[in-house]
Amino acid sequence: MPSVTAGEIAAAIRNVPDFPKPGIQFKDITPVLADARLFAGSIDLLTQNFAPGSVDAVVGIDARGFIFAAAAALKLRAGFVPVRKKGKLPFTTHEEDYALEYGSATVAMHTDALKPGARVLLIDDLLATGGTAAAAVALMKKLGAEILEVSFLIELKFLNGRDKLKNQPVRSVVVY
Ligand code: AMP
Repeated sequence: MPSVTAGEIAAAIRNVPDFPKPGIQFKDITPVLADARLFAGSIDLLTQNFAPGSVDAVVGIDARGFIFAAAAALKLRAGFVPVRKKGKLPFTTHEEDYALEYGSATVAMHTDALKPGARVLLIDDLLATGGTAAAAVALMKKLGAEILEVSFLIELKFLNGRDKLKNQPVRSVVVY
């Protein structure tokens, strides 16, 4: 059982109003990362449904998702696979576009990042509108991965991000 509660993680998350632009309540996770007990506890909570050996790879989303996904991969004795913003990965990639509030963005994954049938956990720091995670799921599916769970440290429930992840098991540690 994780030794840290979701309530303790929630208490450490810093809300920064109007960052990066007016109207956004930015959830700053750096106080969680800076506290050894809370950082380890957040990884325990994110991985609590899985035992080491039961996951082949943990996929993390650029950039804060990397922090949690890489630590989770070590704990689960799994590989780590990055989903990056377009133009950053050096080898051949699959790309997926998704809508932002204004305009669109593109994420990419190496074409050989996951083997067909690989048992994979997707982790990001925060679920907002769900566009980023849904694009990552589309890339993982393109490679034939078996998505075991999509896990977030934080979910902004009022943005209904789960609607874009309908056919996936979604879990979040702290919900606003
Ligand atoms: P979305 O595609 O709308 O679900 O946005 C999710 C991505 O944007 C995540 O990778 C988060 O890191 C980031 N993000 C969106 N909203 C916030 C917020 N209020 N605070 C911190 N990060 C956010």
